[in-house]
Amino acid sequence: MKKLFALAALTAVVSSSAFAQAYPSKPITIVVPFAPGPTDTVARHLADALRKALGPNTTIVVENAAGAGGTIGAGKVARAAPDGYTLLVFHIGMASTPSLYRKLSYKPLEDFEYLGMINDVPMTVIGSSKLNANTYRDFESYIRANSGKLNLAHAGLGSASHICGLMWQSAMKLDKSITSIAYKGTGPAMADLLGGQVDMMCDQTTNTTAQIEAGRVKAFAVTTAKRLDKHKLLKDYPTLQEMGLKDFNLTIWHGLYAPKGTPPDIQKKLNDALKVALKDPEFIKREEDLGAIVVTDNRITPQGHKAFVANEITKLKTVIDAAGQFAD
Ligand code: ASP
Repeated sequence: MKKLFALAALTAVVSSSAFAQAYPSKPITIVVPFAPGPTDTVARHLADALRKALGPNTTIVVENAAGAGGTIGAGKVARAAPDGYTLLVFHIGMASTPSLYRKLSYKPLEDFEYLGMINDVPMTVIGSSKLNANTYRDFESYIRANSGKLNLAHAGLGSASHICGLMWQSAMKLDKSITSIAYKGTGPAMADLLGGQVDMMCDQTTNTTAQIEAGRVKAFAVTTAKRLDKHKLLKDYPTLQEMGLKDFNLTIWHGLYAPKGTPPDIQKKLNDALKVALKDPEFIKREEDLGAIVVTDNRITPQGHKAFVANEITKLKTVIDAAGQFAD
């Protein structure tokens, strides 16, 4: 009997590692829980680098499953088959949504395997080119005088742009709040900002840099603690701290996840491939051109990634509870 168990255990190990050796033998889908826009851009850059790292026959498809601040796409991956063929690229929303949504279809720390973090992305406070303001000071006076009439676009409750808008409005202590408008991602929100249907947005540099450079939107400040000195364009914008918003510091991070129960060998293969991808000079350049900083620290390990997200969940709960906004 004992022999039989030993044989069964051995067969399980052999077949799981044989499975991992053959992996990937069919297309991998990376789910992006937003419409095409900044998270999508990061996922597509990463898909290109992972394809190289996993071998020439690898096919990776990026699928946009947008809505409800990223929670629809994240829930979809939490419930997907744990076979390494459905992955998720998600951002700070992984840590903000548990405090914001009373009913969430996944548990961030229990329903996923953590495969490593990808990058840190600063945010920019931007406005429609039609706004009568050119510097942050002009913008601030304009906002203070008109807040009740203005609107701010974001990618749904818990999204990066929503958290940024919340933090910024609460630091500004405005008399009247700005109306917020939710989109399925800041890609479509940007289209409305360009068209002048919305007035402002706080969004990742991965979405805003090209538009700022082309003069299609006005940029007023960056949300990081320090200026983005290394970036040829973004270095010219002040930080919100410099503009008097004490301790304002927000950077958006992205990570790679698989459904809970994905075989350990496949998780290792994906983490190894991610580590190679994050050193790929082409990937690094594409990210840096858009103001993102590729992760090099301990957060590229599954343990480091998970510990970081656990800490962010606690940190963001304080911010969100203070703002007192919840979703069902
Ligand atoms: N920038 C979005 C956000 O605010 C995400 C996206 O649209 O990719 O969360």
